Amino acid sequence: MTLSVPELIRKKRNGAPLTTLEISELIARYTDGSIPDYQMSAMLMAVYFRGLGPSELDAWTDAMLHSGEVLSYPSVPGTKVDKHSTGGVGDKISLCLAPAVAALGVPIPMISGRGLGHTGGTLDKLESIPGFSVDQDVQTASKLLETHGLYLIGQTDDLAPADRKLYALRDVTGTVESVPLIASSIMSKKLAEGIDGLVLDVKVGAGAFMKTLDDALTLAHTLVGIGKGAGKAVRALLTNMESPLGATVGNALEVAEAISVMKGEGPEDVTALTVCLGAEMLCLGGAEKDLEDAKKSMTAVLSDGRALEKFAAIVEAQGGDPSVCENVDKLPTAREERVALAIDDGFVRQVDPMGVARAALAVGAGRVVKEDSVDPASGVTLLVGVGDTVEEGDPLAVLHHNGSGDDPAIGLLQGAFCIGPEAPKQQPLILDRI
Ligand code: URA
Repeated sequence: MTLSVPELIRKKRNGAPLTTLEISELIARYTDGSIPDYQMSAMLMAVYFRGLGPSELDAWTDAMLHSGEVLSYPSVPGTKVDKHSTGGVGDKISLCLAPAVAALGVPIPMISGRGLGHTGGTLDKLESIPGFSVDQDVQTASKLLETHGLYLIGQTDDLAPADRKLYALRDVTGTVESVPLIASSIMSKKLAEGIDGLVLDVKVGAGAFMKTLDDALTLAHTLVGIGKGAGKAVRALLTNMESPLGATVGNALEVAEAISVMKGEGPEDVTALTVCLGAEMLCLGGAEKDLEDAKKSMTAVLSDGRALEKFAAIVEAQGGDPSVCENVDKLPTAREERVALAIDDGFVRQVDPMGVARAALAVGAGRVVKEDSVDPASGVTLLVGVGDTVEEGDPLAVLHHNGSGDDPAIGLLQGAFCIGPEAPKQQPLILDRI
């Protein structure tokens, strides 16, 4: 590095762009421990305020991507495609989407994260299936992809290690909420999976990272720009997160709901979003040319048993009990239930995703800090949704718990429902497409 680290920090702080070489050395030396946290913290704050230009962003992402292993699957033919969601409440889409698309011939190497804060993680949901292991080494994962056209695993230590270090540092230095840092973090991990195409589900609304359409569009364009810069086929859908997705929030509850989607009996919003995202993946993966035809294929595979058959196969291959697919009662269930009741007559005008998430968190369905363990059985089932009419005393939602469903928890759940005399305006599920 021709400039010293303090000089680099000053350069960025003063708004001058860093060169590709400066960025790659900075990230490499931070990852190997030769740049200390206090200097990287100052750099992150400079990036937070000054942003990263397009070539800096590509260089930053590329440096993080190459800080560890980049996977490849020479023995698996076909265009490999994955999906990433920026996180929402009740978002169990990956569970039904990945098997459905894989069943239609597009290989899906899916590496997911754990839940932190108000959004649940795909790994936690999968681990609620008795025996299911998300910890698979790279060789085993490749074999799964070869045999089943699919794997559903957690991040290995070797995949984008710079991101793990940088994310932990951002978390404690007030630098998480930066579009270039978020986008490079997401894309470095996804590109390290060895994918050819990626579909992004950028959530917008009260239960999402991005609360407004404008902010979500900025993030989506940044993510798509990085992907295209790396030579990948990328699409983004901006989707509504003003209320929880589907009728369940909580790990095993969401697995059961995803299974119902793969039996053609799932909630309308979860099924519709699975169909739309899957159709994009099929087109990127070359299995379909026309988006409307692709949607028809997705609808068919979700209702004729092929998606569920694929899911059962991968559950079994990863050590889980596939009989949960036939009998969801084999999933963990909570000992106790409490019902939140309506305190007014009228229309359900809003179901606040944050209120539902906080109630689920209060009964142990999520994590406050990443070391927390989750209760696979606890969570929330929504009995009514936006636009339904209720009378005072009607049941609104069930809190499933193992002894932690106290008054504050049920209060949070009850408080999530806004009931009023006027019917709410129906909101579209898909807000934009990039
Ligand atoms: N998800 C990520 O992977 N990284 C971020 O910075 C934010 C969300």
